[in-house]
Amino acid sequence: MEPVPNFSLHRPATLEEANNLMRRNPEARLVAGGTDLIVNIRRGIVDTDCLIDLNDVAEMNGLGFDKKSGALHIGAAVTLAELSGDDTVIKNFPAVAAAAGAVAGPTHRQMGTVGGNLCLDTRCIYYNQSEWWRSSNDYCLKYRGDVCHVAPKSSRCFAAFSGDLAPALLVYGATAQLAGPGGEREIPLTELYQDDGADHLTLEECEVLVSITVPAAEGVVSDYVKMRVRGSIDFPLAGTAIALKRDGDKISRFTIAFTGTNSYPVLIEGVDVLIGKPLDDKALDALAAYLPKQIRPMKSTFTGQSYRRRVAINLAKRLAQRLFEAAA
Ligand SMILES: Cc1cc2nc3c(=O)[nH]c(=O)nc-3n(C[C@H](O)[C@H](O)[C@H](O)COP(=O)(O)OP(=O)(O)OC[C@H]3O[C@@H](n4cnc5c(N)ncnc54)[C@H](O)[C@@H]3O)c2cc1C
Ligand code: SF4
Repeated sequence: MEPVPNFSLHRPATLEEANNLMRRNPEARLVAGGTDLIVNIRRGIVDTDCLIDLNDVAEMNGLGFDKKSGALHIGAAVTLAELSGDDTVIKNFPAVAAAAGAVAGPTHRQMGTVGGNLCLDTRCIYYNQSEWWRSSNDYCLKYRGDVCHVAPKSSRCFAAFSGDLAPALLVYGATAQLAGPGGEREIPLTELYQDDGADHLTLEECEVLVSITVPAAEGVVSDYVKMRVRGSIDFPLAGTAIALKRDGDKISRFTIAFTGTNSYPVLIEGVDVLIGKPLDDKALDALAAYLPKQIRPMKSTFTGQSYRRRVAINLAKRLAQRLFEAAA
């Protein structure tokens, strides 16, 4: 039995109220759907007696298109069920709808939000365990301990980022709107993350993710696929999104991103060498040979790292080929 500890709960209605509450309660944790955070509180991984619920914050709600630019605006409190079921998102940004629809199970997606999924904590078999399990293992570098059980000689944590939505937004060049004590700012979504499993978000103190903007992408085909142990509910062992545009027999745009492999969602750099060429076997083999330079799974899940790397590469090759053919 892992009871929920006592905590106070605040429900701000505006961004200003949320920011003020965060400043007054620096130890408070933000909660959206709670599908990850509440599990972590019960397991003693997150220690807080104050929660700030973001679901009623007006500026974080709303899902819509800008009629002029065709850009998609997604509030951080929009649920994954809402996003994956929206006909316009399905038509214009299929990878985004597919990724939102691939998170956990249907009940999690009713509660789970875009902000919670993008700001999801990293995961590791030595960390996502009960308090008694972790204490009997002397904890680990990420929390209370002084050694990483995955890479004992390392001074950093390699827990894996496993949110499904981020790669689908990254391949479209999405931006993130943030708000905190320093005011509001907009950054490319790639810059929300850094390569450190114990501190993978670049959010400043008391800063919050307000919304996401996805620029229009006319003529682009896309999708998101993942491999997981239990098809009905599990986190990705590896997941990949591709956005691709075809001009005759050649590729005119190609972006690919991964989740489940590194401590951050990886937008692969350097794949623009594929532009202007057909996506034939030679190009697919070149892609497969190139990916391991940037995809680096560690033994942070119960499946081996080389297996996860192979899964990621094969998912990518098959998806790229399928999309290229579909775009003909
Ligand atoms: C059995 C099970 C299976 C799961 N499978 C998957 C899966 O396949 N794929 C997957 O991606 N996830 C999975 N999850 C994790 C989780 O359900 C989802 O990632 C969900 O989208 C998290 O969203 P949430 O709104 O519930 O986040 P919460 O739990 O409320 O929050 C998660 C984190 O984000 C922070 N946060 C929330 N909103 C904001 C914001 N606006 N700004 C800054 N920080 C914020 C919170 O403080 C917290 O640290 C699974 C969970 C369970 C229990
Ligand atoms: S990768 Fe190492 S430090 Fe990070 S959670 Fe796992 S065991 Fe802990």
